[in-house]
Amino acid sequence: MTALRIGQGFDVHVFGDGDHVMLGGVRIAHDRGVVAHSDGDVLLHALCDALLGAAGLGDIGEHFPDTDPRWRGTAGADLVAGVMTQIRAAGWQVVNADLTVVCERPRVGAHRGAMRTVIARLLDVDETAVNVKATTTERLGFTGRGEGIAALAVVLLSGT
Ligand code: MG
Repeated sequence: MTALRIGQGFDVHVFGDGDHVMLGGVRIAHDRGVVAHSDGDVLLHALCDALLGAAGLGDIGEHFPDTDPRWRGTAGADLVAGVMTQIRAAGWQVVNADLTVVCERPRVGAHRGAMRTVIARLLDVDETAVNVKATTTERLGFTGRGEGIAALAVVLLSGT
C-alpha cells in the first residue's frame, strides 16, 4: 500500500544591503540583499522544512544549524539536495510541491519558470509537479513595508 505524507514549511529573511536575492535557486537582481547565514533563499528554506516535515525528520535548523560555520554561505540548492538524500534514504519520493513567495519587491513573476525548473530538478520530479506562486500582502505588515521576504511551501511525499 502506498503511504502519503504532507509537510509544510515557512521561512522569512530580513532585507539588508546587497544587489540581488536568491529565490528558488535563481539569482534575481534587486536593490537590496537579504541578511542570512546561508544564501538566504527563503523559498528553498521553506521547501526544506516542508520536505523534512512530511518525512517526520525535524526541521532545517536541526540539520543545518546557523551556528555551524560549515553552512555559512551555503546555497539553498545544496541544502535541498542534502535533505533529498535523507528523504530518499527514508524511502520517500516527492509527489508534488506548491510554493509561495510573499513580498512586494522584487517582482518575481518573470522568474517563476526558472525557479520551477531548478526545483523540479532538485526534487527529481516533472516540472508539472512543481508550482511557484507569488503574492504581496497589499502593503501590510513587514513584507508590505519591504522589510523582509517570506515564503511558504507544501510538499506531498509518497512511499511504501
Ligand atoms: Mg532561512
